[in-house]
Amino acid sequence: MIRLTELRLPLGHDRAALEQAIVTRLGIAPDALEEVRIFRRGHDARRRGRIMLVYTVDCRVRDADAVLAAHADAPNITATPDTRYRFGIENGADLASRPGYSRPVVIGAGPCGLMAALVMAQMGLRPIIVERGKVVRERTVDTFALWRKSILNPESNVQFGEGGAGTFSDGKLYSQVSDPRHYGRKVLEEFVRAGAPEEILYISHPHVGTFRLVSMVEHIRAEIEALGGEYHFGAHVDELLVATHDGVRRVEGVRLTNGDVIESTHVILAIGHSARDTFTSLHASGVAMEAKPFSIGVRIEHPQSVIDVARYGTRTPDPLLGAADYRLVHHASNGRAVYSFCMCPGGTVVAATSEEGQVVTNGMSQYSRAERNANAGIVVGVSPQVDYPGGPLAGIAFQRHWERQAFLAGGGRYFAPAQTVGDFLVGRPSTSLGDVTPSYRPGVTPTDLSACLPDFAITALREALPAFDRKLAEFAMNDAVMTGVETRTSSPLRIPRGADGQSINTRGLYPAGEGAGYAGGILSAGIDGIRMAEAVALSLAGRPVDG
Ligand code: FAD
Repeated sequence: MIRLTELRLPLGHDRAALEQAIVTRLGIAPDALEEVRIFRRGHDARRRGRIMLVYTVDCRVRDADAVLAAHADAPNITATPDTRYRFGIENGADLASRPGYSRPVVIGAGPCGLMAALVMAQMGLRPIIVERGKVVRERTVDTFALWRKSILNPESNVQFGEGGAGTFSDGKLYSQVSDPRHYGRKVLEEFVRAGAPEEILYISHPHVGTFRLVSMVEHIRAEIEALGGEYHFGAHVDELLVATHDGVRRVEGVRLTNGDVIESTHVILAIGHSARDTFTSLHASGVAMEAKPFSIGVRIEHPQSVIDVARYGTRTPDPLLGAADYRLVHHASNGRAVYSFCMCPGGTVVAATSEEGQVVTNGMSQYSRAERNANAGIVVGVSPQVDYPGGPLAGIAFQRHWERQAFLAGGGRYFAPAQTVGDFLVGRPSTSLGDVTPSYRPGVTPTDLSACLPDFAITALREALPAFDRKLAEFAMNDAVMTGVETRTSSPLRIPRGADGQSINTRGLYPAGEGAGYAGGILSAGIDGIRMAEAVALSLAGRPVDG
């Protein structure tokens, strides 16, 4: 097959126009084009009245070698790369049947743990998954209890339970991580097999929405179990069992809060960024970790129509484009970066705390992205050197402090503090809200958000909002609503690992995914899960990791 990139066609074109563009680009006769597969479709909306679709396509053509040779110098015409996934080992089932075989354990059933377990199960390695939360349907009930009745279950919520943090989300499935082995393609293909729409394989910024994610997670569980994997729910890992022989620390298993021990020489740690108790326990047991930067800020809501008009020049975007999104960055004069995070078109702001007496915001949407408001985190970078010196766990203390302030400012019952952009910019507490109705549940309290943000963040946000308004019309409109606080943008710490995937001071421990600082989002977490599954498989097979 031949791959063509950067094929640009106007919105609304038909299939014949695409084929004609291919034929013209390749300089071939129309009947030499035998098959066309769209590999990627994005769009360029920089000129609002003239939105272009941008394609990458794979084509089967007559005399392909000659056509490729004729375009040897054209950067947009190449042979289609082979992106098929190949397992790192072929003899997993043999290994797993040997006497004394120690089944790998995966802690956490988020996207990282699920993909790690799925790939290990497909290799025949019969992994064991331990997840502190509940199966996804029961977890959904607990999550809604916070949103509807102000009842938080600290073990079963937006952050914890089958499916991990991304289950109640917009389900955006793109990432900018380097992925030379095309593991991202494997993740997306598995998601399609589990029920995601096929389009996620070729749309440049796909999303699946929250409802679909729930059933996808169940499908993946069924496959893992069918392949000999084993799940333990309500299985909260309290302690990593480590023994030191000849000066080398090695994992021997995990102990659960109920006292049960699961022995294993290979443990993938995929606990996400909110498992603060587990980070504390790992630190106490001597696992190497270090503080890392993350961000703090607020969620902002505008009418989706305002964003659609600003981006596309219309309140009714073409269905191929869907509700408009945005990405914004501003470098403030106090040295802080301010940027939009996890933008959810046509979605809702959700209560995302996992600890009692704290308020955390995040965003989600359904596949249709048809809710009235657009929302996004608008967050300010923080770093351990400047903002929370004091060791690997200091970022957690920083997060907890501001989440508690948000809870207090919201007046309790997990209500979020809210302020209009107009009031925030002039430093006036909001006593009521305007035309934009906030979507956060169980509710919001109009107030002064500066009580729950550090001073440098307030200064940076006051500078950034008007700057964003110059890039995206009406962004700083008076009635846009901000709720806070957004603190769980990424993990506040990193658990370093070597090239073989293992913790730098604890053999057999494979820190993975967002919590360990190796991913940021569903897709990159899934990719990292595959990487660690491969690393475990190679170690079990006694083969070196080839980088
Ligand atoms: P997690 O998904 O956090 O999974 C960790 C799992 O480990 C959890 O299930 C947890 O219960 C379990 N666990 C923790 N500690 C223990 C323990 N001690 N014992 C046993 N189990 C334990 N990303 C996107 O790419 N697109 C989006 O649209 C998007 N929207 C989001 C919306 C919301 C509301 C939230 C909260 C996050 C969103 N994210 C989104 C981020 C995304 O969810 C995370 O980046 C991703 O889930 C990280 O995957 P992970 O597997 O590394 O960790």
